[in-house]
Amino acid sequence: MSSRREFIEKLSITAISVPLLYSPAQLFAASSEPYEGPILKVAIMGLGSYGTRVAEAMQSCTRAKLVGVISGTPSKIKKWQSKYDIPEKNCYNYDNFDAIKNNPDIDAVYIITPNGLHKDQTIRVAKAGKHVISEKPMGINAQEGQEMVDVCKAANVKLLIGYRMHFEPKTVAVIQMRKDGDFGQPKFFQGQSGFTIGDPTQWRLNKELSGGGAMMDIGIYSINGARYMLGEEPVWVTAQETKTDPIKFKEGIDETIQFQMGFPSGAVANCLSTYSMNNLDRFYMTGSKGFVEMQPSTGYGPIEGRTHKGPLTQPHITHQTLQMDGMAALIFDGVQPIVPVDGEEGVKDMKIIDAIFKAAKTGQKVTL
Ligand code: NAD
Repeated sequence: MSSRREFIEKLSITAISVPLLYSPAQLFAASSEPYEGPILKVAIMGLGSYGTRVAEAMQSCTRAKLVGVISGTPSKIKKWQSKYDIPEKNCYNYDNFDAIKNNPDIDAVYIITPNGLHKDQTIRVAKAGKHVISEKPMGINAQEGQEMVDVCKAANVKLLIGYRMHFEPKTVAVIQMRKDGDFGQPKFFQGQSGFTIGDPTQWRLNKELSGGGAMMDIGIYSINGARYMLGEEPVWVTAQETKTDPIKFKEGIDETIQFQMGFPSGAVANCLSTYSMNNLDRFYMTGSKGFVEMQPSTGYGPIEGRTHKGPLTQPHITHQTLQMDGMAALIFDGVQPIVPVDGEEGVKDMKIIDAIFKAAKTGQKVTL
């Protein structure tokens, strides 16, 4: 038996006993047999820096393919058309993309625009009868998120959020270890998420387009991470905000927030979200029997880390490739990742962000 086949069979055995330790995308990636199932045909909306990264990563997908674009900049559309062989009939702008409804060559739209636009764009895509993948944060508050969930449900389309870490092999392995009890009872999580933001005129520092500052953009990784590392939903939050540059970080744009979350088991999380410190990308979790630390923990990788049992050695595979193959498996075959990536999952994070903003403003402990 070839070593490749042995590898695939080992993964398959693992996939039966521990169904989600490796994502199906990895199984397909490792397979020597050509994939003959359905391909998720995706149009990307918003051809900015992250959209560009996703498009590149999709070149290596087995089950998903970039087939269309939605952009307000004709020159970008032309460039993408020639780079990715995208036909004219699959190109739209922000005024005419509702016509996607009549385009059978597009199954899903991946919205990679500023946060404040996600809700309305999601609603338009859903009403055009196409599945929606929205970048994080799904909207700018929980109410928007819930509306997105409701509209997609009514339109009978899927709403998925770009939680790429839910497909990342080391993260998946750690979550599986926690589920298997390897850490014992989880007790404490520490998440640090931040970078020093540049250009003061960018949309990330414009409240209408961003919905907030560092918390919406990067702090959300510590929130989502606390939930998947501890395996519980928080019941309270407290938060403290620090602002050293009120000109750059205007009213409603958080520069730095420290926040704490309490969980039903008694576990607690202590996190930092910031736009004014570099190299903050670290998760630490300790339980009654062991610990895990990951640094970097949510960057584009490779993710690095170790547990009380030794280093994490799972392979690095481009996150967005795994994510898009995994989302195709979810849409076509109902294969769920180890932690959901659906709209409801997004709303959970948005509710916590709303509570953190309230706690920072009032100084009160906010119950969820
Ligand atoms: P970006 O500024 O590089 O790109 C945004 C794109 O939206 C640009 O092409 C811009 O032209 C377009 N756009 C459309 N309408 C706009 C408007 N009214 N104002 C400004 N731009 C407009 O931003 P980005 O870094 O690509 O982020 C886009 C989204 O992706 C955000 O929601 C962000 O949180 C998310 N993101 C996710 C990850 C991840 O790892 N999952 C990483 C980066 C960004």
